[in-house]
Amino acid sequence: MRPAVFLDRDGTVNIEAGYIHELENLNLIPGAAEAIRALNQQHIPVVLVTNQSGPARGYYPESWVHQLHERLVNLLTAEGAHLDKIYYCPHLPDGSVAEYSGPCECRKPEPGMLLAAARDLDLDLGKSFMIGDKATDVEVGQRVGAHTILLTSGYGQQVLDGTYQHPVKPDYICDSLQEAWQNIMRAYFNQLSA
Ligand SMILES: [Mg+2]
Ligand SMILES: [Zn+2]
Repeated sequence: MRPAVFLDRDGTVNIEAGYIHELENLNLIPGAAEAIRALNQQHIPVVLVTNQSGPARGYYPESWVHQLHERLVNLLTAEGAHLDKIYYCPHLPDGSVAEYSGPCECRKPEPGMLLAAARDLDLDLGKSFMIGDKATDVEVGQRVGAHTILLTSGYGQQVLDGTYQHPVKPDYICDSLQEAWQNIMRAYFNQLSA
């Protein structure tokens, strides 16, 4: 079993832009690809776990989520970075499209996507890291016993200010994936030598 780094998508890897209807509105946060590439070079699995309720809200079909992820992967590939696996939740408890509505086990802070990744990739969740910009990202990480990092990008600063979602106590607060990566490497190698 290996530890992984779980990444939220919007506001963490790509610039928060609400519900994205045009491919060119999906763009990487500067430094994100470099941080992912550095993790790739250390052979640390990098797993995207993202809530994408657009299909449940009737904003676009689920196939559009795939197209957005194809663009994301292409942007990362162009910078020599890759994601080991992508999980997304298209559901919403009170969605308007029946097929995607109702409670599910994958919408963060429900831990379904992380648990699936742990099974699929043989991951040690207790030594893994969950990085995101929302309280629900920190919450899901804590639910599976992972280390948690709240980024101040996206909605992160609003979470810290108490004006978005609810207060949380992440293990680390970082301005960017770049800074998060430095903390991860320190903690990761300490864990290995412990
Ligand atoms: Mg986010
Ligand atoms: Zn779901």
